Amino acid sequence: MSTNISKEKMRFWSPAVRELEPYVPGEQPKIQNLLKLNTNENPYPPSEKVVAAVQAVLKDSADALRLYPDPDASELKHAIAVQQQVPVEHIFVGNGSDEVLAHIYKAFFVQALPILSPDISYSFYPVYSQFFAVKNKTVALNADFEIEPKDYQQPNGGIIIANPNAPTSVALGLSAIEEILLANPDVVVVIDEAYVDFGAESAVSLVAKYDNLVVCQTTSKSRSLAGLRVGFAIAQAHLIAALEAVKNSFNSYPLDRFAIAATVASFQDQAYFEAQCQKVIACREALSLGLQNLGFQVLDSKANFVFASLPSRDAAELALALRERGIIVRHFKKARIEQYLRITVGTAEQNQRLLDVLQQDVLA
Ligand SMILES: *Cc1c(COP(=O)(O)O)cnc(C)c1O
Repeated sequence: MSTNISKEKMRFWSPAVRELEPYVPGEQPKIQNLLKLNTNENPYPPSEKVVAAVQAVLKDSADALRLYPDPDASELKHAIAVQQQVPVEHIFVGNGSDEVLAHIYKAFFVQALPILSPDISYSFYPVYSQFFAVKNKTVALNADFEIEPKDYQQPNGGIIIANPNAPTSVALGLSAIEEILLANPDVVVVIDEAYVDFGAESAVSLVAKYDNLVVCQTTSKSRSLAGLRVGFAIAQAHLIAALEAVKNSFNSYPLDRFAIAATVASFQDQAYFEAQCQKVIACREALSLGLQNLGFQVLDSKANFVFASLPSRDAAELALALRERGIIVRHFKKARIEQYLRITVGTAEQNQRLLDVLQQDVLA
C-alpha cells in the first residue's frame, strides 16, 4: 500500500491492513465555481418533501438525537417495498450501497472459488475481494464493452455485475442476466443497479423467480441523496437473512433518523423522482449528441454519465485541459479505457458550459 507511514510505525497495523489497496473516491474539491462532472452525483436537488422530512425529525421530537434510531429501519423498508412492489421481507438497507456491497461480500462471496466480475467495472469490487481475502477473477468485456453471458459459465464462488455498467454506461438486457443466473444456480449473482433508474431494465422483477439473485440499488444517484448514504438490496428472504446476520455483527444502526426519514419521503414522492430521472435522461441525450458533434465517440448510455473518447486527442491531456478551465471529469489510467473520459450528466446549462469550453477553447 502506498502511504507515508513509516515501516517502523506500521508494525502496529494488522498484517492484512498493511497490504490493502483502498478504493480511491472521485475527488470533492472545494474550489468555487467549479463544474463537478466527476462523481455521478445528480445535478438536481431532492424533492422539497425530503428536505421537509429531515427538518421535521428535529422539530417533532426532542429525543431525535438522544435516542438510537430504529435498528431495522422498518418504515423505510416498507416504503421501498411499496415502490418496488416486493414483500418487505425481501429488503435489506445499509449505509450507502457501498456498505451493502461489503456485507454482500461477507455474506456470500467468502468462498474458495474466485468471484467473477467484468474487467472494466466498478473499481470497488476488487477492493472488497482483497479486503475479504477472496480471489477475484475478471472476465473481459467484448470489443464493444458488452458483457457476454457465456463467459460467466466457468467455476466461480459468486458473480457481481454492475448494470448499467460503470464506467462504460452500457446496459445489459434481462434475458442475458437470466442466462447468467441459470448457468450459476449454486452461487449468488449480484446485480449492482446504482444507475438503473436512468433507463435500464431492473432485475428486481426476477427476484421472485431466482433464489440466487441479489439486486443492489442506491439513493445516491437517481434520488439525489448521495450525502445521506442510503443503499438497499432486494433478494429472497433466505439471502436477506444472511445480510441481516452480517449487519448485526458489524453495526446494528447503520441508518440514522435523518437518513430514514428523508429516504421514506423520497420513496413517497414518486412523481418528483420520475420527473427528475426524465430530466437527466433528456440532458444525457443532448450531451451525447453535443459531444458527437465535436467528434467524440460516445457509448450508448443508460446511466447519468457518458463514456466518451476523442480519437484525435489524448484523454488524460483533455481531462487536464478541462480541469485548468474549472471543469472536472473522470479519467481512469487503466488498460482498454485510458482514452476515454467519464462525464457526469449535468443540468442543461452545465452541459452547455462543457460543450462551449470544448468547442471554443480546448479543441479550437
Ligand atoms: C455510486 C456507485 C455505488 C455506491 O453508491 P453509494 O450508495 O453512494 O455507496 C455502487 N455501485 C456503483 C456501480 C456505483 O457507481
